[in-house]
Amino acid sequence: MKKSILIFVITLSFFSCKNEKQKNGKLNVITTTTMITDLVKNIGGDHINLQGLMGSGVDPHLYKASEGDVTKLSNADIIFYNGLHLEGKLVEVFEKMKNKKTIAIADTLDKNTLISSDYFASNYDPHIWFDVTYWKQATQFIVEKLSEAIPEQKKAFEANGAKYIEQLNTLKTKIEATINTLPKEQRILVTAHDAFNYFGKAFDFEVVGLQGLSTATEAGVKDVQKLSAFIIEHKVKAVFVESSVPKRTIEALKAAVVSKGHQVEIGGTLYSDALGDAETIEGTYIGMFEYNVNTIINALK
Ligand SMILES: [Zn+2]
Repeated sequence: MKKSILIFVITLSFFSCKNEKQKNGKLNVITTTTMITDLVKNIGGDHINLQGLMGSGVDPHLYKASEGDVTKLSNADIIFYNGLHLEGKLVEVFEKMKNKKTIAIADTLDKNTLISSDYFASNYDPHIWFDVTYWKQATQFIVEKLSEAIPEQKKAFEANGAKYIEQLNTLKTKIEATINTLPKEQRILVTAHDAFNYFGKAFDFEVVGLQGLSTATEAGVKDVQKLSAFIIEHKVKAVFVESSVPKRTIEALKAAVVSKGHQVEIGGTLYSDALGDAETIEGTYIGMFEYNVNTIINALK
């Protein structure tokens, strides 16, 4: 479906569905990434009809709305998305729906604390979920927004939010203890793209990503060479693949290091811009975070 038609359909459906009670009396809440879906599920519980647009392994930077999504969006009462241009291809659709209950999670964060980035039209790095403190703020924000929309469930949302923040505090303590077993000089994280800058800032890692690189281009090859020299110089033991990014650049990087007579392992696959399969432990934000930290620490030790 062409973009203009798509926007027209959304606008039309919004007018026709305005204030219409949903089938079971619950509000329809739509989320974009799996991280946001998991968070909203923890707070909204059975009090909302929740549908996430993106599945596991989906790259939100490249995700485009399908025809099925158009139907979901048109029936939505609230749409939670990440913002900061993470959902690069959905931005236009959301902008057309301004004041139609589209809520960017990033809006609750203090912009002065965010990491600047030239890669994104927002000028900020959008991978905010890798700072647990931000995710706690996001929890509070969603509690407020759901409570405004469904005042009669305010107490339930507040209780769920408080419980989830407790779980996030426990997570933070646990991963800090794991990370502290790795000496500071070994905290260098090389991955397929630059999703982990907030993680690095929060846990004192130097983060090097291969974002935007294609080994098919000359610039890509040069950068792989440069990064392989860095890996050798700093004796980095392992580099990491990401679940939502093709692994060929990381394989090319390993090959470049090996061709210079050195060793580097592929330390495993990290979940970056999407959680694992819904029914697995990595299918939750907390499970994903623990898995990533364990994978990183085991490979770099
Ligand atoms: Zn990303």
